[in-house]
Amino acid sequence: MQAGNTDLLRNACLIGGDWLPAQGDKVFAVHNPANNELLAQLPDCGEVETRQAITAAALAWPAWRQRTAHERGALLKRWHALILAATDDLAALITAECGKPLAEARAEVAYGASFVEWFAEEGKRAYGETIPSPQPARRLLTLRQPVGVCAVITPWNFPLAMITRKLAPALAAGCVVVAKPAEQTPLTALALAVLAERAGIPAGVINVVTGSAASAAVIGQTLCDDPRVRKLSFTGSTEVGRRLMAQCAPSIKKLSLELGGNAPFIVFDDADLDAAVEGALLAKFRNAGQTCVCANRLYVQQGIHDRFVARLAERVQAFKLGDGAAPDTAIGPLIDAAALSKVEALVADAVAAGARVLSGGQRRAEGGNFYLPTVLTGMTAAMRIAREEIFGPVAPVFRFADEAEAVALANDSEYGLAAYVYTRDLNRALRVAEALETGMVGINTGIISNEVAPFGGIKQSGIGREGSRHGLDEYLEIKYLCIDAG
Ligand code: ADP
Repeated sequence: MQAGNTDLLRNACLIGGDWLPAQGDKVFAVHNPANNELLAQLPDCGEVETRQAITAAALAWPAWRQRTAHERGALLKRWHALILAATDDLAALITAECGKPLAEARAEVAYGASFVEWFAEEGKRAYGETIPSPQPARRLLTLRQPVGVCAVITPWNFPLAMITRKLAPALAAGCVVVAKPAEQTPLTALALAVLAERAGIPAGVINVVTGSAASAAVIGQTLCDDPRVRKLSFTGSTEVGRRLMAQCAPSIKKLSLELGGNAPFIVFDDADLDAAVEGALLAKFRNAGQTCVCANRLYVQQGIHDRFVARLAERVQAFKLGDGAAPDTAIGPLIDAAALSKVEALVADAVAAGARVLSGGQRRAEGGNFYLPTVLTGMTAAMRIAREEIFGPVAPVFRFADEAEAVALANDSEYGLAAYVYTRDLNRALRVAEALETGMVGINTGIISNEVAPFGGIKQSGIGREGSRHGLDEYLEIKYLCIDAG
């Protein structure tokens, strides 16, 4: 199916319930990264539209927060049902604008929708507490109340799930949002907003401001500067996250940041080899390696190293590279030419310093934003890949001798999002998981994310958690009531 065949496609931004088309030449184009086809022309919003969206959200807030959590939950459940019912159209849109294979796009719809269902329920459990008082005449209790207008800025690698993972808890908590989707993938976000409207979520509760890469900084600055915006939730690069955090400092906004990762994937000699290879393929090559929890450094112990890399290279060579819309594609394109150049530069740096290419190692000969799935061995800590997020289908394998070395290498990073450990020794699994400086650890699995578990990082990978019961806290403030009952 073509992305253009759906009634969910919008060439407009959404402010206060009004779909506003582009004004004059203030437009930007969205392209399919697999073939460069033009998908849509959208409003290139700036400061004025962003302020209008904040105003619309602020106006919608009082009525939305007054609703009971049950009422908000019922609307979210209707949204959830509509998202699932539109799986085919949404998956086609995701594949068209982000490039991932259709099967992965469908999985993203289910994954993204699961947050809406989860928080529809979880909103009803925004419990306060009563606190035993140190003074006889006093009664102490807490309420948990919505933060208010939230700004939400999302990346292109999960065009649907990054939106729902933020909007669902925000709405469930009684907040309203101004969302700024990535310039590469705004169409899925707009389609979600269409479905939210159909579900009966009131005008102004969700506003979507679209903009080009050049306008992102202006929209971001406007959201950060405006004191009516009480919170910013951002997923994207550490570099932009750092900048947004600084911009939020003057108005002391609440922050949730999901930033870059540099996940270590550690395979010990006693691991189940088949399971470790399978896990590595999933953790590394999903979405062509373009997820923030993708394995970035594969540390393999010397006793299993050669068997592991031989098996991995064999499987990687069998991957079918191509347009995500084709039925047998396993690996789609990278998001754009800049991403392709970055992957190329990282591999060139490693090869120049002595890395060996076991498969791939270059862009596709037929052109486009495609990089061949790659396995590198002989990696060292001095290479750029040891420190930088690859965001491409490249599996670099480092050899290590013992547990202490593996943990030290794994922790030698400014990032701390996800890590993976393969071993059959339970004590070692727990010891290593406890020693790793990351927010999440997969033990004998390469896939860890779901709506019931807390997703997030430490160090320069971010602040806060998404999903799980903790995900709701990000959109609530605690108010303490001290009552003199004497
Ligand atoms: P990625 O490398 O994944 O593209 P970015 O951090 O560049 O990550 O982008 C993530 C999101 O942040 C996108 O929606 C993008 O438009 C937005 N963005 C980029 N630069 C800025 C900025 N200076 N201020 C606010 N948002 C920005």
